[in-house]
Amino acid sequence: MSKEPVVAVIGRPNVGKSTFVNRLIGSRQAIVDDLPGVTRDRSYYSVTWRGRTFQVIDTGGLVPGADDTFGPLINQQVEVSLLEADLVVFLVDGQAGLTPMDEAVADLIRRSKKPALVAVNKVDNFEQQPLTAEFHAMGLGHPHPISAMHGSGGVGDLLDVIVDTLPGEAVSSGEEERPPIRLAIVGRPNVGKSSILNALVGEERSIVSDISGTTRDAIDVSLTVGDDTFVLVDTAGIRKKGKVDYGVEMFSVDRAIRTLRKSDITVMVLDAEQGVTDQDKKIIEMSNEAGRGLMLVVNKWDLVPNKNPNSTRDFQKTLQHQLPHGQFAPMLFTSAVTGQRLNKIYEAARQVYENAHRRMKTHLVNQVLMDAFSLSPPAPIKNRRLKLLYATQVGVAPPSFVLFVNDAKLMKDSYQRYIERKLRESFEFSGTPVVIIAKSRGENR
Ligand code: GDP
Ligand code: GDP
Repeated sequence: MSKEPVVAVIGRPNVGKSTFVNRLIGSRQAIVDDLPGVTRDRSYYSVTWRGRTFQVIDTGGLVPGADDTFGPLINQQVEVSLLEADLVVFLVDGQAGLTPMDEAVADLIRRSKKPALVAVNKVDNFEQQPLTAEFHAMGLGHPHPISAMHGSGGVGDLLDVIVDTLPGEAVSSGEEERPPIRLAIVGRPNVGKSSILNALVGEERSIVSDISGTTRDAIDVSLTVGDDTFVLVDTAGIRKKGKVDYGVEMFSVDRAIRTLRKSDITVMVLDAEQGVTDQDKKIIEMSNEAGRGLMLVVNKWDLVPNKNPNSTRDFQKTLQHQLPHGQFAPMLFTSAVTGQRLNKIYEAARQVYENAHRRMKTHLVNQVLMDAFSLSPPAPIKNRRLKLLYATQVGVAPPSFVLFVNDAKLMKDSYQRYIERKLRESFEFSGTPVVIIAKSRGENR
């Protein structure tokens, strides 16, 4: 195993190095200390971002010389850190501005010839971003605004740049095996689930295994299609027809919900002739709540009479109207009898999986949302208007966004839906729910 790359966080005292490192490691492990004069050894922490792991050296808590010039101790510590570093994050204090000591550190970094990024800390909101301007003068490249204390979007952006700049191969370079994509085939009795399953399994000579679960009900089938492995989850209930008594309608809903919780993507099978029922709606809502991807498969398409080129589009419109919670899902029109478009299920599932794991850069997220807010500002509630400070994507599968705002209570459902629409217009999130969380300024993450 190759050594993890080392990122040294360097800067004069009090710029926020410990706070920044704390933010990166996401805990309170590193001691943040306001007292000058607390000297401690360099500390190492492991940080993982976008699947990339690196070591961070914190040189925080160093003492400047008595006359506030550049003390020999700092000099030494910084130089040792520089020797070890594969990448330097040079932290400066935006509120204090560019100081002679910053310039001295910049000099050391330049002489080390190590790749370096300048991070301007204590830029606590958008209005303070101009504070970064004067740091261009150090000649160490574009300064990145961050707020270590508030963990604003800038920290995420900086991490993006760090992992993009680090030497060595990114782990997500395609060398690693793709994880299997787990599909839950659900739907009412008689829509064609078992026919679809048999067609899919029958076509694929490359079945890898039947993975027997603990109960007779839970049999997962694994298939390899091209570079992808798909697992059809809990197929027993579908395959062993006759042995499963669907009986009470609720049973199949409960079963579907259990199955989809074990999967990445819910493949909701509908009958082209029968349309949509309340059960279908319920399953879709549960799938969304569980954060699973969603595909709609309109089966028995061969039975639809007098099809013309607009048939699928018309059908799609009707269904989207009937299933408002499934509007983001791709729709396939299949026939398990003729085999029409069944192979598209895999293609669509791969796409949904990718969309669910899509991670957008913080500055793009902020651009889109700032535009959305100015295009259609939120209506004031009791004279107070929701204001966006910054936003960042905090998770995938489903993509989740935190919006830091002046007061989260001012976020109305309708406005949240508007924001989701805007995110979907800009980013390819088809087939995945999108989670939006509003947090008041200062609220912890
Ligand atoms: P270090 O000496 O470089 O490790 O700096 P510290 O992490 O100990 O931070 C020094 C002081 O700056 C502390 O009082 C922090 O609370 C404060 N500080 C750190 N980051 C921020 C920030 O992003 N914004 C503001 N306003 N203050 C910060
Ligand atoms: P399940 O209960 O959802 O598993 O549904 P089945 O796969 O058992 O299908 C129910 C009935 O619909 C069977 O008689 C199938 O032959 C028929 N069926 C399934 N898919 C199609 C299709 O695409 N077209 C037509 N015409 N019939 C289908």
